[in-house]
Amino acid sequence: MKYNVIYSPNFDKKRRSKKSIKFIVIHYTGMQSERESLIRLCNRKSNVSSHYFIKNNGKILKLVEDHHVAWHAGKSNWKNYKNLNKNSIGIELANKGHEFGYTNFKKKQLSSLIKICKALIKKYKIKRENVVGHSDIAPLRKIDPGEKFPWKKLANRKIGIWHNCNNKELTRSRKIKISIKFKSIFVKNLKKIGYYFFNKKKTKIFKIVKAFQRHYRQELIDGIIDKECLIIAKNLLKNSKKP
Ligand SMILES: [Zn+2]
Repeated sequence: MKYNVIYSPNFDKKRRSKKSIKFIVIHYTGMQSERESLIRLCNRKSNVSSHYFIKNNGKILKLVEDHHVAWHAGKSNWKNYKNLNKNSIGIELANKGHEFGYTNFKKKQLSSLIKICKALIKKYKIKRENVVGHSDIAPLRKIDPGEKFPWKKLANRKIGIWHNCNNKELTRSRKIKISIKFKSIFVKNLKKIGYYFFNKKKTKIFKIVKAFQRHYRQELIDGIIDKECLIIAKNLLKNSKKP
């Protein structure tokens, strides 16, 4: 894998073991320019960093060595893991994000991302379902990499997971209301997938549902649990049980 090195001072100085690396967390920068993003990621005062940075033109920069903990995830939860920085590799994709003009990720950028993910998955034996978005692990605070991130395309390359539902059935089920009983089944399924529910406050569930939709039902992100969401979550779990 070809990359240039620009070191960020923002990382834990203690080395971590190879086997502590279990996740890849995908981000977008959410800033006006690549230059601005890099300055922030390498500024001692910002206290943020990532292991890799991928420019729009596909060029990869390495900011922090894999064997050091970079500061990209913040307060986060996934499955039984808490504060995922120590167990993950963080990858930042240049994109202005929802605040400054969210655009499709560039082809070259994505092909570089696929290359890096493939290499990391192999090197650290990362499970494909452990490639997640920042919004998945911090749904109350974050919305990156967002609904334009092509999770399905990546899943076709065995990076992350996707469903194999019938598309017609899904479209038919969109916005179809479901009973409270099925809503609670949906929440249970989301927990099994890895989403963390802090408590039962309605506003928070709304945000977690949105995070799920940004990842797996990108056509409509309304935070409402409908029949389509129910079907997708069930299917994801069924697939994950297959050997
Ligand atoms: Zn992020």
